Amino acid sequence: MFNSLSDRLSATFKNLRGKGRLSEADVDGTVREIRRALLDADVAVPVARDFAAAVKERALGAEVSEALNPAQQVVKIVNEELVSILGGQTRRLQFAKVGPTVIMLAGLQGAGKTTLAGKLAKWLASEGHTPLLVAADLQRPNAVTQLKVVGERAGVPVYAPHPGVQSDFEEVTGNPVVVARNGVSEARQKQHDVVIVDTAGRLGVDEALMQQARDIRDAIRPQEILFVIDAMIGQDAVNTANAFNEGVDFTGVVLSKLDGDARGGAALSVASVTGKPIMFASTGENVNDFEVFHPDRMAGRILD
Ligand code: GDP
Repeated sequence: MFNSLSDRLSATFKNLRGKGRLSEADVDGTVREIRRALLDADVAVPVARDFAAAVKERALGAEVSEALNPAQQVVKIVNEELVSILGGQTRRLQFAKVGPTVIMLAGLQGAGKTTLAGKLAKWLASEGHTPLLVAADLQRPNAVTQLKVVGERAGVPVYAPHPGVQSDFEEVTGNPVVVARNGVSEARQKQHDVVIVDTAGRLGVDEALMQQARDIRDAIRPQEILFVIDAMIGQDAVNTANAFNEGVDFTGVVLSKLDGDARGGAALSVASVTGKPIMFASTGENVNDFEVFHPDRMAGRILD
């Protein structure tokens, strides 16, 4: 991911090397190249436009620095603007002061939610937490089984009663809201400090899915709603992210499939268009292919 964007940006910066001072034409040309590189990488049009405008304004008004030549100055500005569109600071999970911290996952089918649930659970366990996974995706026939497999790999228990079975808390009738609520009750009773609730995804955004996600949210009142998005889906990412942002008002984004060879611009646009931070990245099918997302490190990788 980002390889071709990285190459394009470094070629642009190379053209500035050796210049003693940047003319307005130099800045214009450079900014145009940066904007094109972003658009070619699938960055959303308004995000690329605002990015270019910010770089131009700062490059023209750049304070003359003893330490940096003009090319370095532009790299520094681009780096800072990349960090900014990626959300600025690293945003950490919010934990509940009392009772289990509830984390709900939302996103389209195939986005990587169930896979992410296992990774997040394993990471939390390695940080000293005692997570419980809850299978509230009753839409896809084998989603519950898949979460059990994921839980086993992560070494984390899974709450997944079969529909129609009497649970300790409330009768489960194939209703994901009831499963989610029972899962949180189970966590409280068994003293898990974090509950990760996997929810159903559909192939496209639809109102029934959104309503179900809202009903689950309102029943379990999560501290965090993580929207999982497949970084490979290109320009569609922005519309999907906007729909989920309006639909469930998520608190953070997880980029999945960052190991893919897509152009990556979708990933660069999502934080900026939704105003919500990217918190984690999923980088493979293995339970350990998981990272806390740091905007500054990601910008550094793109400009490496
Ligand atoms: P869900 O429908 O949102 O729960 O999505 P899944 O977790 O079932 O993932 C859908 C497919 O994407 C599965 O085949 C996963 O193995 C795969 N997958 C999930 N996350 C990643 C990732 O970060 N990288 C790669 N390469 N594949 C992934």
